[in-house]
Amino acid sequence: MITFSDVSKRYNNSNAVRSLDFSINEGEFFVLIGPSGCGKTTTLKMMNRLIDPSSGSIMIEQQEIKEYNIHQLRYQIGYVLQQIALFPHMTIEENISIVPELKKWKQADITNRVAELLELVGLDPEKYRKRKPRELSGGQQQRIGVARALAADPKIILMDEPFSALDPITREKLQDDLLELKNSIRKTIVFVTHDIKEALKLGDRVAVMNKGEIVQIGTKDDLLFRP
Ligand code: ADP
Ligand code: ADP
Repeated sequence: MITFSDVSKRYNNSNAVRSLDFSINEGEFFVLIGPSGCGKTTTLKMMNRLIDPSSGSIMIEQQEIKEYNIHQLRYQIGYVLQQIALFPHMTIEENISIVPELKKWKQADITNRVAELLELVGLDPEKYRKRKPRELSGGQQQRIGVARALAADPKIILMDEPFSALDPITREKLQDDLLELKNSIRKTIVFVTHDIKEALKLGDRVAVMNKGEIVQIGTKDDLLFRP
């Protein structure tokens, strides 16, 4: 689904990431883990061209990422951030509808989709549709962030430490719900975290990064029982 071949990214002569060679399979929950500054966000952002590599190539579904129309590419890839990035002056419904609106869906289709997405992330549509983000808790806002990323049915969802600003109980609940959601939506998910417990709980495979390189990659069993 996503293939990195010898990908490096330099900033002012220093490598943020170096010689990345790995593939992410369709439908996989793939976790990038490592300490702060090791290059996780840089790696993630290259998957929707928020950042372009200095060298190497990235393919998405057999096509070089640079050959995609950038808008088409971004529509196919949902993105969820740690910092809650909902627009405060817009209702929940309007926040979730941004990409469908850009794609000029019919209004009735958007309305139905918003209800479906709110159900999917565990929020009552009638209760929350017309609210503003500030009326929701941090955990609920992150659920809206997930709903928004899923809105136009992208093939890939990128998540950059989506739960790390939440209290531990809310965080565990959102992890559990994300696992359930993953089974129902069958998307390719790339998830960045620095929390090993979270990585092992969520990931089908985990890539361990350090100083801009992937130093280990495998399933939970591979990582825990490696001789
Ligand atoms: P992580 O997500 O693992 O915390 P990042 O991908 O954000 O790591 O950063 C990797 C390295 O690249 C860090 O040393 C960071 O300071 C550096 N870096 C990231 N973005 C930039 C930038 N725009 N300009 C210069 N250096 C950057
Ligand atoms: P994170 O690891 O969650 O991305 P950071 O604080 O490392 O958090 O980075 C926040 C943003 O700032 C990132 O989008 C990154 O690209 C940018 N950034 C990180 N390090 C630098 C840097 N040294 N110079 C310029 N921009 C940077």
